[in-house]
Amino acid sequence: MEKINNKKNNVYISEEENTLNWEEIQNSFKKTFGTEIFTSWLQKISLEKEYNDYLILGVPTRFFRDWIVSRYLDKILELVKGFKLSLNRIEFKIIEENKSQDFIKINEISKVTEIKDSILNYNRLNSNLNFENFIQGKSNEIALSHSRKVCENSVRYNPLYICGGVGLGKTHLLNAIGLSIQNDNNVMFISAERFMYHFIKSIKKNDMVNFKDFFRKSSVFIIDDIQFISGKESLQEEFFHTFNSLMDKGSQIIISADRAPAKLERVQDRIKSRLAGGLVVDIEAPDLELKIKIIKRKIEEIQNQFKEHITLSDEVISYIASESKTNIRELIGVLNRVLAFSRVHKKDLTIADCKNILKDVFNQIRIITVDKIQNIVSNYFNISLTDMLSQRRARPLARPRQIAMYLAKKMTSRSLPEIGRRFANRDHTTVIHAVKTISRLSEQDDEMKKNINQIKSLLIEQ
Ligand code: ADP
Ligand code: MG
Repeated sequence: MEKINNKKNNVYISEEENTLNWEEIQNSFKKTFGTEIFTSWLQKISLEKEYNDYLILGVPTRFFRDWIVSRYLDKILELVKGFKLSLNRIEFKIIEENKSQDFIKINEISKVTEIKDSILNYNRLNSNLNFENFIQGKSNEIALSHSRKVCENSVRYNPLYICGGVGLGKTHLLNAIGLSIQNDNNVMFISAERFMYHFIKSIKKNDMVNFKDFFRKSSVFIIDDIQFISGKESLQEEFFHTFNSLMDKGSQIIISADRAPAKLERVQDRIKSRLAGGLVVDIEAPDLELKIKIIKRKIEEIQNQFKEHITLSDEVISYIASESKTNIRELIGVLNRVLAFSRVHKKDLTIADCKNILKDVFNQIRIITVDKIQNIVSNYFNISLTDMLSQRRARPLARPRQIAMYLAKKMTSRSLPEIGRRFANRDHTTVIHAVKTISRLSEQDDEMKKNINQIKSLLIEQ
């Protein structure tokens, strides 16, 4: 097996765009977990560094970190995502025990979510997302069986393209493939977004040769969320060449996306046809049976891992499964919330308890779109949407416009250029300026803080 020297090629991407207000987030921890858990644990977490897609949080000791990871990480991630949707993982740094950088290593974590040693590695496989804990149901059996076949090398579809909506298990499957063949292959696993960061960084550092080399070395190339290349011409160009050269040398390519190749928007036709050139399989929304199986399995995992006795009646399990309608990520989030509640209150839950808990959860995860933000913000300030989007610079229009851009960045997963386009085709630098301005004002100016909070609650409620 060819080993890659990651250190040499490593490119560490830092996106300086701090927008989170940690105090506000701490308040939400307190509300969600209750004062007891908050003061004994969560209050001691500090925000060390904020990147576009992940946070580095400071904790006092290893034990502390392990405890947080095993009990609260899913929920913490879900909550911080509520403040900044682009976040997809959390890393920890131990602040007092050891002053040197001490990030969690991939294999060190025993449970949950996407914590990986991003700094040392491109290949960010998560050992918790494997075939053994991927549960089969009608909605995913085809994708699962082809993923296994790719690993067994019995049939070769190249590329294997797995598509489906958010939270249905695509990243899990891709990870499982990577894990199961990494010993015999040079596996590269990367999200399209990361691929772009490395790409841009390499251009800036005038280091494209290394970049090309690095990605073209793999014998298995797994790329997650390819829809991200939408509208990014030079990235598509680079991807196209990487793709072709990997195919030429017979590397296996596995791709995921939120939709079928033909449905990708603003992606070159030649790329779409390459993507569709192997096998396209999709994952559908889970049925009730699969959701129940997943809940039961999760409960089992927690019991085994933490020697914790959990009793949820079948009735309650079916209720949770049937109420959680959109996807599996949400289902797991809901389950964690229910379990946290039963832990704190030390009681077996009834359907009525669940109803109450879930009412909150579902309110929080209502979908927030740029359109919705624009409508609510313009209503809030009593100006017309046309005026708010116009080129006029008068402050009574400019401020609401900036607030709407700021919220679009914080509360949706749209990229800066995408947001710019939605605001009458403005440039992404205008959006950056708006985000910075409003972040600063919302710290300095009580009136602004109040406005933002009120608008946020309107967005969540409606
Ligand atoms: P996607 O990449 O499609 O958005 P993920 O792979 O991140 O979705 O899945 C969301 C969450 O649901 C993850 O925690 C994942 O482990 C879990 N999950 C999804 N499908 C299954 C399954 N069939 N069995 C067990 N867990 C699953
Ligand atoms: Mg994913």
